[in-house]
Order: sequence, then structure tokens, then C-alpha cells
Amino acid sequence: MGKILVTGGAGYVGAHACKALSRAGHTPITFDNYSTGWRDAVRFGPAEEGDLMDRARLDEVFAAHAPDAVMHFAALSQVGESVREPGRYWLENVTGAVNLAEAAVAAGCGRFIFSSTCATYGDQDGVVLDEETPQRPENPYGASKRAIEEILRDFEAAHGLRHVIFRYFNVAGADPEGEVGEQHEPETHLIPLMLDAIDGKRDALTVFGTDYDTPDGTCIRDYVHVCDLADAHVLGYGWLDKGGPSRAFNLGTGHGYSVREVIEHSRRVTNRSVPVVEGARRAGDAVRLVSGSERAKAELGWTPARSSLDRMIEDAWHWHQTGRFER
Ligand code: UDP
Repeated sequence: MGKILVTGGAGYVGAHACKALSRAGHTPITFDNYSTGWRDAVRFGPAEEGDLMDRARLDEVFAAHAPDAVMHFAALSQVGESVREPGRYWLENVTGAVNLAEAAVAAGCGRFIFSSTCATYGDQDGVVLDEETPQRPENPYGASKRAIEEILRDFEAAHGLRHVIFRYFNVAGADPEGEVGEQHEPETHLIPLMLDAIDGKRDALTVFGTDYDTPDGTCIRDYVHVCDLADAHVLGYGWLDKGGPSRAFNLGTGHGYSVREVIEHSRRVTNRSVPVVEGARRAGDAVRLVSGSERAKAELGWTPARSSLDRMIEDAWHWHQTGRFER
């Protein structure tokens, strides 16, 4: 059983990963500055408050806990914001990862599990994106994540820091037991915004672009359940623990849904109408991002068992109605 330092453990994916780790018998230690995360979301292990820009604080935390591995979730993660504020994305995402990797090496912690993204691939003319697809990010968010992947390769060569890179497709859903869930301030993601529109917390969902070159004109994404994603991280830890080589894995289902299809499924699952208005394209959006997801299944034994679109919407709806974190 391992001790795992989880940066961003108070955030959406990080908190679900902490739950999965603790269920598997590991000890997650959350490291978070609570800039976007929630103190209420830290429920499955100890927490250390700190900022990735503060290398001395990181050294203290490594010394206090002697973690066996790092899972690095803490980052800025919005495509549209990254187009407007590229400096923050390059500065915070890259510096945070470098500080963490340096601190890990200095402390003798040799395993690094990194949250990357399908945005590192960019649009590729409708091809299914597998791990060998050349990465051509189209926005600063994706570019900053690709840069960190390169940094990890350099750290392995120089210092022997082994890594697993997970390239997430679109994470959705929530813990079915309702202990943690998705909550961002401000919210920018499709499914939670739609649930807000469904129950009147906002006027309508704006569809960002209806003139894309797709069957119904809206963007296509590959949605994956946050609990399946969390389970993959537990498997990723096991991979490195058993001495597995550094490796990148996509985490998606291989099936894409358009924005209109997500709206239609939400209407059915919630049995409510969805107020929708059609709007302009959002800067930086790729037309279609669908995962080739064989590698994680074949090599890690990962099964995205909960990732049907209806199940993700159902679990998100349950969380939306029953659990909200307080600031
Ligand atoms: N989207 C939308 N309206 C919204 C939010 C998102 O039409 O209010 C679309 C967005 O353009 C993209 C998809 O929904 O095609 C998923 O967006 P999200 O921000 O959830 O995730 P991303 O793909 O940017 O990581």
C-alpha cells in the first residue's frame, strides 16, 4: 500500500482519485491551495495547504510524509481562459509541475502520475486519437500540458523519475454515493451548466457553435466517468509500483457525442426540458476529440465501466441535487 501526494486533491478529479486510492487501501495526502478546490472535498486522507509556486513548502511536505508517488492534478484547465490569458497557463502550469518534479527528485520519490489532456492532440481531421498520434495542441492549455509531458521525459532521462501520463478526454459525472462531485466557480463545463439550466439556476445553456463540420453542426467530445478516471489512476500507481516503464495512456471510451446529443440525453435522463440558446463558437475549441482507448484497457486492465453517457448524467444530476460544497 502506498502513500500518494495528490496535488489538487480538493478539486474535481483529484478528490475522486483520493476516494479511489483510499478505497484501494492507499493513503492519499492532498496538497492544495484551495484557489479552485474545496475544503469539503478533502474527505479521504490528510491534507496539506500549500502552493506549487512555493518550492520550500513542497520540500516540507515531502519531508513530512515521504510519499511513494505523486499524482499531479493541480492546474489551470480551461481552454477558453487559456486563449485569453496564455501567460498564466504557461507560468502556473509549467512552473508548478517543474517545482513538484524537482521536489520529488530531491526527496527520492521516483514515481510521477500526471494529468494531461486530449487537448495536447488538437484537431486531426476526424481521426481517432491514439497515444501515437502526433500532438498538435491548438490552445495554450493543451500546449502547456504537452510541454510538461516533455519535461517529464527529460526528468526521467536525467534523474530516473518514472511517470505515467494520463491524457484525459472529457471528464463527467460524480461519485454515485454523493460524497464528492463536480463544482467549479465559475462553472464552464457542459454538463453541470446544462443541469443548472434544467433546474432554473441559470436561464439557458448556450451551445457554442452550430456550424461545425459534424453531422449536427456541434462539437464532438468523448466523455468519461470521473470514477473510471480515478480507478485508472490507482492502476497507474500499481503500474509504476511494479516497476513498469514510463508510459502515456489515453483515458476515454472511444465514443464521441455531439453537444446536441448530450442535451438530448440530459433531457431523457432528467425528464425535464433543457432551455437552450444557440451561440457563437468558443475560441480554442477543437471540432472533434475522440479517444483511441485500447492501450489503457490492454496494458493497465482498465475498464471504463461507468462511462455510458446516461450514467454520467444520472450521477451528475444526483450530485447536483444533493451535494454542494460551501466556501
Ligand atoms: N459547450 C457548450 N456550451 C457551454 C459549455 C460547453 O456548447 O456552455 C461545449 C464546448 O464548446 C465543447 C463541449 O461543450 O464542445 C465540452 O465543453 P467543456 O467546456 O465541458 O469541455 P472541454 O471540451 O472544453 O474540455
